[in-house]
Amino acid sequence: MSAAVYSKLLFESQTISANFIDPFGKIVERPIEIRKNPITGRTCRLAFSRINEKETATDSLPQPPPDVNETTKCPFCRPQVIAKTPKMHPDLVNNGRLSRGDSLLFPNLYPYGSYSAVSLFNDEHFVEIGKASGPSYADSFMNGCQYLARVLAYNPRAIYMAITQNHLPSAGGSLIHPHLQINADPVPANHHRVLLQKADEFYQQNDDLLFSCYLSQEKTNGLRYIGATGSWQWISAFAPEGFYEIWGILPRTTSFLQPETSDWEDLARGILNTQRFYRSLCRNGYNLGLLSVESPASHLELRIVLMVRSNYAPWVRSDHTGFEVMLGDMTTFVAPEQTATWARPFFS
Ligand SMILES: [Zn+2]
Repeated sequence: MSAAVYSKLLFESQTISANFIDPFGKIVERPIEIRKNPITGRTCRLAFSRINEKETATDSLPQPPPDVNETTKCPFCRPQVIAKTPKMHPDLVNNGRLSRGDSLLFPNLYPYGSYSAVSLFNDEHFVEIGKASGPSYADSFMNGCQYLARVLAYNPRAIYMAITQNHLPSAGGSLIHPHLQINADPVPANHHRVLLQKADEFYQQNDDLLFSCYLSQEKTNGLRYIGATGSWQWISAFAPEGFYEIWGILPRTTSFLQPETSDWEDLARGILNTQRFYRSLCRNGYNLGLLSVESPASHLELRIVLMVRSNYAPWVRSDHTGFEVMLGDMTTFVAPEQTATWARPFFS
């Protein structure tokens, strides 16, 4: 592999090609770049020629979902949210639910783990990509963090924590009413386990923090650096595992309990900047995720990941083909350096 060698982390890539005779009789060569994630070692592919394929429903932002006005049927809308959603066990929360500003938090009726909650933004039933209010986002995150703090006090083994969002059904969302999923468990997920191991190994070898060093190298390189919102630093992923994958890093912060209110507000601004960028590409679905391991010994810093998912519109194909599902290498079509170039104006 040809490698751009930095002081500590390797940003490795190689290019292979497919050669064939096209339908017009011309010999063509199609390059495919294979990149390796400097942190996890996972490889991904950039199949640049596929950018010319016409993706369904990306000429303009698709219409809102059909249930956009069905507020009376929505279990997350008021007033029925109080009757139709569950309450927390009294060992965890006295009065069953938590609130912060207009955000309401309650257990996930269909949990994925030991501590699984839903944190609503507010009473607005449908919010298009990039149109949420910053304070509603920040409140929903902070509501999630006060829940996670109670979980940790109640069960100090439930250190593997995550805050995620699925916007629209194409991203896995089951209800369109905006909400975050808040999770904590004594059992690590794959990404918790790998990232914690890599961050700890890096600290032992370099006496420094992994994501801070990654960021420092990316700022020096500059090609994938996008901008800052307060202390959060935004870059496009070198080896993306999702379309237009963007990371926000809060350097030297290893716990959900450390950020100040202003940090959550700055995070919300960066998320909305990213969503406005996605909206400019006529994309309406995305996932976001922020992980932590709440152990004093953890050297894993806070990093949020955002990526576009297939549009939620009729007959749009999934962004995960047999190649991604069966071979485990994500294939995207746009160079991360181009993603950063296109995203930068939304952060200026
Ligand atoms: Zn609703």
